[in-house]
Amino acid sequence: MNDCIFCKIIAREIPAEVIFENDLMIVIKDINPQAEVHFLVISKKHIPSLADIQECDRNLLASMLLQISTIARDYCPMNEYHVETNIGSSWGQTVKHLHFHIVGGKRLHK
Ligand code: 5GP
Ligand code: ZN
Repeated sequence: MNDCIFCKIIAREIPAEVIFENDLMIVIKDINPQAEVHFLVISKKHIPSLADIQECDRNLLASMLLQISTIARDYCPMNEYHVETNIGSSWGQTVKHLHFHIVGGKRLHK
């Protein structure tokens, strides 16, 4: 997608702090963290949101959730954290490309 921020990050047209990457996803630090740990787990396939997944995305979704669990174990204090995906502007989605937030550790009050 031409004007999608996350597609540009995946294509390395916009810099990001990359935590993990494989053929299905990239995990980066959120540019505006809400807590000590705030990562974004982003599918490499441009899917607008969880509302748009299809049967063929089954393996992608399972892999993303497994990776979330693995990464959180390494980075989130006490292995306690919040996983979120926003769907639609009215529920806080600002980037229309499937991603999960991993938020852990101390909250940063802004
Ligand atoms: P949403 O609001 O769509 O659920 O989440 C989008 C997230 O992407 C926000 O938490 C926002 O801070 C983050 N974000 C937006 N643009 C960039 C960027 O260019 N780089 C990084 N690392 N994060 C971004
Ligand atoms: Zn995209």
